[in-house]
Formats: sequence, C-alpha cells, structure tokens
Amino acid sequence: MEELQQFFSLFSDFTNPKKRVFVGYLFLSLLIALGWLVLIKRRSLKTALTRVFDRKVFFSKSALADYQIFIVNRLFIGFISPLMLSQMAIATSVYFFLHRLGWVEAGYFSSAPLWLAVSLFTFALFLADDFTKYLAHRWMHKWPVLWAIHKTHHSAETLTPITVYRVHPLEGILYGIRGVVTQGSVIPLFVFLFGDKVDLYTVLGANILVFFFHITGSNLRHSHIDIRYWRWLEHILISPAQHQVHHSIAVKHYDKNFGAALAIWDWLFGSLHLSDHEEDLEFGLLPSEKSSASNLAQIYTRPFVDIWLALWRPVRRVFRRIKGAGKSRSDHSTLQP
Ligand SMILES: [Zn+2]
Ligand SMILES: [Zn+2]
Repeated sequence: MEELQQFFSLFSDFTNPKKRVFVGYLFLSLLIALGWLVLIKRRSLKTALTRVFDRKVFFSKSALADYQIFIVNRLFIGFISPLMLSQMAIATSVYFFLHRLGWVEAGYFSSAPLWLAVSLFTFALFLADDFTKYLAHRWMHKWPVLWAIHKTHHSAETLTPITVYRVHPLEGILYGIRGVVTQGSVIPLFVFLFGDKVDLYTVLGANILVFFFHITGSNLRHSHIDIRYWRWLEHILISPAQHQVHHSIAVKHYDKNFGAALAIWDWLFGSLHLSDHEEDLEFGLLPSEKSSASNLAQIYTRPFVDIWLALWRPVRRVFRRIKGAGKSRSDHSTLQP
C-alpha cells in the first residue's frame, strides 16, 4: 500500500496548482492550442485535433526519453528538500542584516494599506523570481561548465509539456539554490519593511501572477504549437513561439529568449528575438555537442564528461603556454655564444 502511495506521489505535480503541469493548466493549454489553430489559423477542428495530438511528437524517441527523465528526476527530488532549510537560514540572516544596517527603521511601511503591501509583495516576488531565472538561464548558455549541464534540456528534439522536466539533476539543484536565495532575500526585506502585513495574493495556493502565467498556456512553450503574440506583447511576455525559438538550432537563434515568463529582461539586455515569420524550427543540438536525445545513460552521464572537458581545456592551455615559453627560452639559450 505504501509502495503504491509512493508511486502515485511521483505524479503529484499533475494535481498541484503550483506546478506548471497541473491537469487544469494542461487542459486550458489544450483549449488555447485548439482555439489558435481553429480560430486564427482557420483549420478544421479535426485537423486541429490531429495536429495537437501529433503521434510523431508525443511518441518520438526524444519525448519517450522525456517521460523517463520525468520519473528518474522525481526520484531525485529528495536532494532538493534540504535546500528549504537553507532558505530559512538565508531569510533569518538577511532579516538581521537589515536591522544592523539601520538605513530605515524596521516596520517603516507598516502603516501602509494591506492591499498595497500584499500587491507589492506579490509583484516583487514574481519579478525577482523571473529575473533570477533569466540570469541563471543566460549563464547556463554562457559558461561552458553550466552549458554542459543545461544542454540536457536542449537535447530534446521534440517539445512536449513534459520537456520542462528534461533537466539534469545538477541543473535542478542549481535552480533550487537560485529559488532559495531569491525568496530568502525578498521575503525578509518585505517582512522588515511591512511587518506582519506581508502576504501573497494567491489562486489555488499559487502566486496570482504565476497562476495567470499558467492559465494562459505556459505549457505550450514546450510544444509544437507555435502561438505568437502581438509584437508589442512579445516585448513584455515570452510567447510559446519565442521559447521554441530558444530551442531552435538555427545560428540566428543562438542565445536568444532566455526569459521564463517576462520578455522585458531579454529586451533590456539585448537577447530578445520576436517570433514572427519563423517557420518549421528544428530543435535539438548540433552533432558536435555529442549529446544524445534518447539514450538515458548518456543523458545523465555526458554532462560530467563535458564538465571535466570544460574545466580541463583551460588548464591544458595554460600548461601548453608554460611549456611553450620554457621551450622558446631553452631554444634561445642554445643560440647564446
Ligand atoms: Zn536554454
Ligand atoms: Zn525549454
């Protein structure tokens, strides 16, 4: 009985409204996809349904690997739980640090109306979380050691809502640390300024802004349905098509659209790519990356090899330079009379 309970707990994200793959959000994403194909693309309902439930996507080797990675990573999730303790430790340290700093008095805004305190906190937490996701994602592409880990996600050759779980456990740990540091900094700052008025506006337990992000089809980012927004809106919010551009192997799409929910970070820091006129994107990695889309053993072990290579290459370069300098010195000395 306990084993059965443990087995079902692997799939608890599907019944948790704080998670992207909550069945309610998946169902809404399906409606949005059908609405897009029928009302905007003028396809018949039958064609739209065939397109949405494309067997070539959901039963591709890459997608089958996604489903297995989902299970394996859920088994790994215990490694992340101790991080929650660290969040308390960080929050407590930041809280006492703010007291010691003495720039403003504790509870300086405690007389602010409740709605204002809650709105500001809800917005700040969402904004800080989204910004640190952008930064972390950008670094994942920039630094070879981090890219070795993140390319597990990019090895997907077809995108389904489950692809969001196609991450190496090391990336899961890094993102866990990011979340803990972000929340552990924003929460005590607001508690320090607003006192006991700090609370979140939530729907079904999720931050209302996260809830809005999910009911508007966050699951379609990892899908073959290239829903685009108006140009002006793609400067503010990342559309599904824009995240698909991020997964494209075309050279012009390299290092574009790192944003999670908001596009403003990409716009501000020059990595925004609007989705219009993008046709038939190819997803995955170049052969030179030597990363498999479907071999589970390789998916989990390859990053360690790549991390080793990424760390070893600069060291080898330095050794070679030293050796080269030594050699030219000895050559030079042999020319001495
Ligand atoms: Zn990426
Ligand atoms: Zn992705």
